Amino acid sequence: KNPTYPSNCLTFLNPSTPTPAQSTHVRLKIIIVGAGLGGLATAIALASSGHTVTIYEQAPELGEVGAGIQIPSNSTRLLSRLGLDPYLEKCVTEPETISFRRWESGRVIGLTQLIPNFRETYRAPYYVIHRANFHTALYRRAVDLGVTVKLAARVTEYDVARTGILLESGDSVQADLVVAADGVKSVARQLVENGPAIEQTGFAAYRATVDVARIRADPEISWLLERPNLNIWIGDQRHVMTYTIGAGKSFNMVLSHPDDTDPSTWDQTTALSDMQREFQGWDTRLQKIIGMIEKTIKWPLVSCTPLTRWTTGRIVILGDAAHAMLPYMSQGAAMAVEDGVALARSLSRINNAQDIPHALSIFEKVRMDRAGKMQEASLLNGKLWHFADGPLQRARDKAMEPETRGEPFSH
Ligand code: FAD
Repeated sequence: KNPTYPSNCLTFLNPSTPTPAQSTHVRLKIIIVGAGLGGLATAIALASSGHTVTIYEQAPELGEVGAGIQIPSNSTRLLSRLGLDPYLEKCVTEPETISFRRWESGRVIGLTQLIPNFRETYRAPYYVIHRANFHTALYRRAVDLGVTVKLAARVTEYDVARTGILLESGDSVQADLVVAADGVKSVARQLVENGPAIEQTGFAAYRATVDVARIRADPEISWLLERPNLNIWIGDQRHVMTYTIGAGKSFNMVLSHPDDTDPSTWDQTTALSDMQREFQGWDTRLQKIIGMIEKTIKWPLVSCTPLTRWTTGRIVILGDAAHAMLPYMSQGAAMAVEDGVALARSLSRINNAQDIPHALSIFEKVRMDRAGKMQEASLLNGKLWHFADGPLQRARDKAMEPETRGEPFSH
């Protein structure tokens, strides 16, 4: 009934097992390609284990596209163990509930109680945060652990035989291990498994923020700011996810809708009016908020065809490069955080650099299974949310009903 957020059931990620720092035998020289959320989280996990880590990032400046991101409990638990709490505490928000709402009226049809249930069940909070703050927190923690981040350093080639990278500048660098966290357009993915791995899902999302002052000034919608809750309006092939970030200073929206056209043909200059048209006829209060959006970006939602390999030699891919997924479980970055910790854990069992391929094969097996299940769960969540009105939708709403019984929301 509730969207399920799987607890971290992998034995070697069990919090009761020693942290990587306690069990490392060899100190490796490790290259990470990409300083996104996945690359930075992995760098932190590996540096915490005593490895020497250098990240090569193609962008001349660090940053993140989009506004808000959810950090589910399986991720916050690991981040806490990686020492992120002091870096995150001032910029995270802990929502109380997720309300699922009828598309045309906004009536609550299902409720997931995050506080206190998630801390009790998963032993960790469920947060939302501005992406830039999340990224900065990870970057600062990585640097404090001695990670070197090289910017404007685009990797053009990988050298499997020598475990190295070739940079656009012409420089080449070798290491004991290369981790490619180079995102959905991964070059390294082609290296480990040749083939067209990235697929359009047939969905796109408008991402936007709304000025909270405008929402607060309107009594018909100001209730959305009373508590830091997530609200999702669900309907035929579409949904709108909303929550506040930045200590209530910003209202984040993701508006998912079907679109199987080629993203290179999209006209971003008409995105605002296109978005309004997509949600015509929906809850008038929701349409009012959509009308307050001043700028938006239309974003293709892609997923990665499950791969049969994530490694070649001593090169391994992780994060979106390995398992890009629909964002309908809010687990893409969370899986990358798990990847990083799992990689550090696998390497902590080896006695010398010759054992790296064996450690990578264990990492690959465990993480491929876990991420593959999350890809499927994300797809399934979308299907459940996106029923057109009819028998399936009514059955779904009935199944969610008991959770709203006695529910105090009047909105
Ligand atoms: P990226 O963030 O893409 O980072 C890759 C990095 O590699 C980039 O910095 C890039 O510049 C660099 N790079 C690429 N090629 C090279 C090269 N050749 N040389 C050097 N550098 C290179 N996840 C969640 O956990 N919770 C959510 O709530 C959530 N919501 C989402 C909502 C939407 C609408 C979308 C689209 C995604 C959402 N996700 C969410 C997923 C999450 O954003 C991604 O899974 C995550 O950001 C992937 O991180 P990454 O580091 O693997 O890849």
